[in-house]
Amino acid sequence: MPTIKDNLHEVLATIPDGVQLVAVSKYHPTECVAEAYDAGCRVFGENHAQEMARKAQALPKDIRWHFIGHLQRNKVRQIIPYVTMIESVDSTRLMLQIEKEAHICDRTIDVLLELHIAQEEAKTGFSMEECRTMLRDGLWRGCRHVRICGLMMMASNTDDEQQIRSEFMKASQFFDEIKQEFFPNEDYFKEKSWGMSSDYQIAISCHSTMVRIGTRIFGERAY
Ligand SMILES: *Cc1c(COP(=O)(O)O)cnc(C)c1O
Repeated sequence: MPTIKDNLHEVLATIPDGVQLVAVSKYHPTECVAEAYDAGCRVFGENHAQEMARKAQALPKDIRWHFIGHLQRNKVRQIIPYVTMIESVDSTRLMLQIEKEAHICDRTIDVLLELHIAQEEAKTGFSMEECRTMLRDGLWRGCRHVRICGLMMMASNTDDEQQIRSEFMKASQFFDEIKQEFFPNEDYFKEKSWGMSSDYQIAISCHSTMVRIGTRIFGERAY
């Protein structure tokens, strides 16, 4: 059986320079995260506030934790001391809550705006139109403790490669539009977080800068 270290190196060998790997460790025990850490990994993704806080307390402090799941506003406080990037901002209200808690902690939190482009109903995130409206409203400009660094999205869960590719390309084109209109001089607005275990190669060919990979590194999750 390949180890986590083997899997990690195999995945890293297929990711070009300039694309950041986020090792998605959700549902996997702390020991597995430690194993990936020992193999050189420093960026991990979690989707439950309490689980992230617990692992962050138990593991080395130079880990950069990315929150990648739906985040309830009343859970923001739990992760603010630990989180480096919240990839799944899907409402202005959530952004304002992050601003409030980050201010109290005297931190600045990097965030991505989560887009909903996939066909599935259940996926969270802004439609492109909602995202434009939210950026034009401009409330985010007052958020001094939140830095919008780019976009995150998940493609449809399908075997249809053309469908997946077309969704990633839509997101990429939308990124270019938003960059030009709202963040032309902000060098930090550069992240395109798309690609998971099953589709990250396609995502990379569609200009992804950040891939979130769980299963291929840690194996199947036991929910
Ligand atoms: C779980 C999860 C992933 C990783 O999925 P794998 O198929 O295990 O690679 C990536 N992104 C998000 C938002 C997730 O919730």
